[in-house]
Amino acid sequence: MAFTLPALPYAHDALEPYIDALTMQIHHGKHHQAYVDNLNKAVAGTPNENKSLKELVKSAGTISPAVRNNCGGHWNHSFFWEILGPKAGGNPSGNLSDAINAAFGSFDAFKEKFNAAGVGRFGSGWTWLLVKDGKLEINSTPNQDNPLMDVAEVKGSPILGVDVWEHAYYLKYQNRRPEYLGAIWNVINWNKVSEHFEKAI
Ligand code: MN
Repeated sequence: MAFTLPALPYAHDALEPYIDALTMQIHHGKHHQAYVDNLNKAVAGTPNENKSLKELVKSAGTISPAVRNNCGGHWNHSFFWEILGPKAGGNPSGNLSDAINAAFGSFDAFKEKFNAAGVGRFGSGWTWLLVKDGKLEINSTPNQDNPLMDVAEVKGSPILGVDVWEHAYYLKYQNRRPEYLGAIWNVINWNKVSEHFEKAI
């Protein structure tokens, strides 16, 4: 069964002005599509063809670089679109809010630490909020790796991930990754992040 590009759950311009429509068109329609196409090419005619996306991701250390990079790209972007949304932002609530305050002191302190991890990721990668052994942690990964991978430095269940590849922000923010990371909080869908959190703990 070939992997397919999931539809964006909102319009390309729905995240304006924080993420511009052209970036969303290229990011979803070209970059994410390319990960899907290249993943299909890389697994064609091999035993990996019949594995689920999550199975491939979890076995990143034992698959070829082409499969690892593209299954990671497909999983990460599918996850990313779902945790963004229009009419989003604001503060997390309930158990997630309590857990953030317990782990990081406050929501503001959490955002500061998360953004520092994203700014500090040299080159391309992702910054994550994940559940590890029942506790929240912040980490970043290079390229299209993620915390589900057997090769991850810090393994756990991601509940929030932000793409810090230049293709995620360059058209609007150019070299200003910190500005992009400052703006992204306006479009985080905390209901979705909470759903991931409740499943992970
Ligand atoms: Mn991307």
